[in-house]
Amino acid sequence: MLIPANRLQWIPKNLRLAHEYCFFLHDEFARMLVEYEAANAPTISFTFASKSQASRFEDLAKKHDALTAMRELGLHSEARRVVLNHITMAMVSDCAHHIYESLRCFEKRKFIPGLNLLRKPLLDSLMYFSWMVGDEDGFYSAFTAGDPAKLTQKVLGNRRKETLASAIAKTELAGIVTTEDLISIIYDVGNPDGLYGLFQHAVHLITVERVEIKTSPENFNFIFKDPGEDDIYEALYLTLPTVLLYLAHVILALYERIQPPRPGAREAFVFRTVNAYRFLRQEGGKAALAEAMGEALSPHIKCPGCSAPLKVTEYNAMRLLLTESFRCAHCRHKQPFPLSWIF
Ligand SMILES: [Zn+2]
Repeated sequence: MLIPANRLQWIPKNLRLAHEYCFFLHDEFARMLVEYEAANAPTISFTFASKSQASRFEDLAKKHDALTAMRELGLHSEARRVVLNHITMAMVSDCAHHIYESLRCFEKRKFIPGLNLLRKPLLDSLMYFSWMVGDEDGFYSAFTAGDPAKLTQKVLGNRRKETLASAIAKTELAGIVTTEDLISIIYDVGNPDGLYGLFQHAVHLITVERVEIKTSPENFNFIFKDPGEDDIYEALYLTLPTVLLYLAHVILALYERIQPPRPGAREAFVFRTVNAYRFLRQEGGKAALAEAMGEALSPHIKCPGCSAPLKVTEYNAMRLLLTESFRCAHCRHKQPFPLSWIF
């Protein structure tokens, strides 16, 4: 529904919706990034207290740079916002590029490059985003301490649980995604259904340090794997929607600190991402969710082509959430429906 059918043909049928959902999450935070850039949202503006302050700023900025000038003049909270906005925009952009390319690799059964492309955003970037959301003061003082050793994955790994828990508490995902889920999916070498083992086997030909992911004798990791097998897809799409849902929501939390989104846009983002996730996970039953959406929408929406009332089938429920469109059950025409607009 979101991706042309010819691109989905190599993905097992029962996993195509999960793949489309992953792409939808990517598209949502990538679209917002572009909107923020276009609106110049990350730029900080401030008024000088006096003419002499303005000219001192100019001198310092010429001699060093704008950031140093702001700090010299005591504009510390503004300087901090400049730094945090800059990191958010650049790191989200890098993350979105990696995820886009990895999902395209999975469409072509190129598992190994796909997993390698997912490794950086999920093992690295996600923890920095979580740190920034959960403990902005701590992140900023570590980042500006002049010592990158304060920012290593080892430092982060020692307090992974607290970092993820405090970030989740600042999103709308409490009760939907848990710290334990994320840690077992992304970092637990002993979880046979998790991503960590897949990442390690994708990036290294031989792994011997950990018994859980030890290379089998007379083998190299994944090198002789039959690309026709579906087991990697099955493991991947069982867990990836959860991780990308969390990623999308911590990115939303970071965007909000740059500038609050348009009224309604935040609610629509949360409604669409969370309900599509529930639908995918079949929590509360797909039929029940479709029925609830139908009760809310059908009395008000008619097909512009044939005037039949909107029928929220299970197909249409997911289509409405992911693409803001529906297919008329009567005349079969696809019609746009601005779901975000009702917020
Ligand atoms: Zn119609």
